[in-house]
Amino acid sequence: MKCTSCKQGELIPCFIDGQFRAHTCTSCEGHWILIEDYVAWKDRNPQFSFDESIQCDIDETNQAILCPVSGTIMRKLRLSTRTEHRIDYSASVGGVWLDKGEWELLKKEGLAGSLNAVLTAHWQRNIRINSTKDNFAEIYKDKFGQDTYKKVKELREWLYQHPNKADLRAYILADDPYSAEK
Ligand SMILES: [Zn+2]
Repeated sequence: MKCTSCKQGELIPCFIDGQFRAHTCTSCEGHWILIEDYVAWKDRNPQFSFDESIQCDIDETNQAILCPVSGTIMRKLRLSTRTEHRIDYSASVGGVWLDKGEWELLKKEGLAGSLNAVLTAHWQRNIRINSTKDNFAEIYKDKFGQDTYKKVKELREWLYQHPNKADLRAYILADDPYSAEK
């Protein structure tokens, strides 16, 4: 199989960390992993944990990569909200392309044991939701200032779990809560 990332090397069978079957490029050292191989290994080794104290040096390719099996463009999927880093996924074949260093990044992020979960729609949706939340938090912090934001956030959390929240909100927002006039 030809490497579709660097377009120079051959994808040669290997075992990643001596654990599960994959292919590695002879030139760019990226990995091609079939999810069924990964899941089968995980089923046999449910307790296995990867070393997370690891350094990684990534040769990321930002351009679209073709699936080495089907030749179609692979989707780029984010790993988590903590990193902007994206891996390439061929949904039709069920394969993942990891650039050199990306496997090490997965280990560092504690995600090497969850590679199959990262690829699910549910996981990807959570990343989008949490990224949006982070963005809003930044906007509020900017607008209110760090201390005020912290205070108002605490007040809001306290208010929203209070059984009298509707009355309390009316009290806070009224121009004069002690006036009989509306
Ligand atoms: Zn390559």
